[in-house]
Amino acid sequence: VDAIEKEEVEKKGVDISQYKGVWVFAEQREGELLNVAVELLGEGRKIADKLGVELTAVLLGNKVDNLAEELIKYGADKVIYAEDEKLEVYTTDAYTKVIAELVKERKPEIMLIGATTIGRDLGPRLSARLATGLTADCTKLEIDDEDGKLLQTRPAFGGNLMATIICPNHRPQMATVRPGVMEKAHYDENKTGEVEKVEVSLTEDDIKAVVVERVKSEKAEVAIEDASVIVAGGRGLGKPEGFELLHKLAQKLDGVVGASRAAVDAGWIDHAHQVGQTGTTVRPKLYIACGISGAIQHLAGMQDSGCIVAINKNPDAPIFKVADYGIVGDLYEVVPQLIEALDNV
Ligand code: FAD
Repeated sequence: VDAIEKEEVEKKGVDISQYKGVWVFAEQREGELLNVAVELLGEGRKIADKLGVELTAVLLGNKVDNLAEELIKYGADKVIYAEDEKLEVYTTDAYTKVIAELVKERKPEIMLIGATTIGRDLGPRLSARLATGLTADCTKLEIDDEDGKLLQTRPAFGGNLMATIICPNHRPQMATVRPGVMEKAHYDENKTGEVEKVEVSLTEDDIKAVVVERVKSEKAEVAIEDASVIVAGGRGLGKPEGFELLHKLAQKLDGVVGASRAAVDAGWIDHAHQVGQTGTTVRPKLYIACGISGAIQHLAGMQDSGCIVAINKNPDAPIFKVADYGIVGDLYEVVPQLIEALDNV
């Protein structure tokens, strides 16, 4: 029956007028809310207000009631909280089943998921199960003034153009959104809202994959997406040792080290430090780009930083077009001077 129903939906679409509300998947790991969940609430709030509908956070986990309250304070009108031991750790089968059933029953118009490793796995599964479309890795979302559809924008063709995509006949309109791009929701200690705990019926048969072991990547320690100061290096460093110099400057500023893909591909530094389209999107207060030319794929990951300082020996380097302050010179002369100046502050 499901297959026939799905085929019908795929062919004709659905009665879209039945679908209302904006849902945000509130991703948590080990009982901690991910930043991207708060960013999605910020963006979801704007979209829900524009459409005049409710903003709902969908939380799956075990004994994370405190997070449900937090989501309300971050602006959700309502939290749907599915609690079960089998949902403590993410598994594709269990999460897909629970969310798909909720969506089928309650029919949200829009569903947003962070484009994390989990979101990139969950989003496609869900959209296939629900026979709807999914725009992956969006960097911008807007509501069309004329017909209220969700305009979903993402880089395409290697980041050389931005494609805006719509989901005309199917619902929900689903998007995974790149972490670090949207502004975080404001926290309001006094905000109240409804937390609804839902019953989950998961059997052993529902979960076909077993998590044997979890290994934390270095990324968690680097956390460039959370840093307020990033000193980034590119091919212009010329050698891996160049990052030691950048590290000294970053330490003086209480920041971390970032990198261009060229530096990562050269093996000078781990991918966890890469900023850009195929790395991490960052928006620190201060971004210092050293020996980075400013390719479009790099800019895609850092151009929303509060203040951009570029150090490059080529005065025509494209990075200077987005920089608030540009220093034309050899980074091996400029950076030590900056460190020295900070020593004397
Ligand atoms: P280069 O472009 O070689 O620039 C080096 C710069 O250093 C030059 O401007 C030079 O003038 C300057 N320089 C040299 N010596 C010195 C010195 N002593 N002092 C000061 N300046 C000096 N790139 C990313 O960064 N992140 C991504 O996520 C990413 N994703 C990509 C995805 C796709 C699909 C593709 C096709 C490409 C992607 N790229 C990405 C690669 C991107 O196109 C560029 O190749 C890369 O960003 C270049 O890195 P760079 O600026 O360090 O090197």
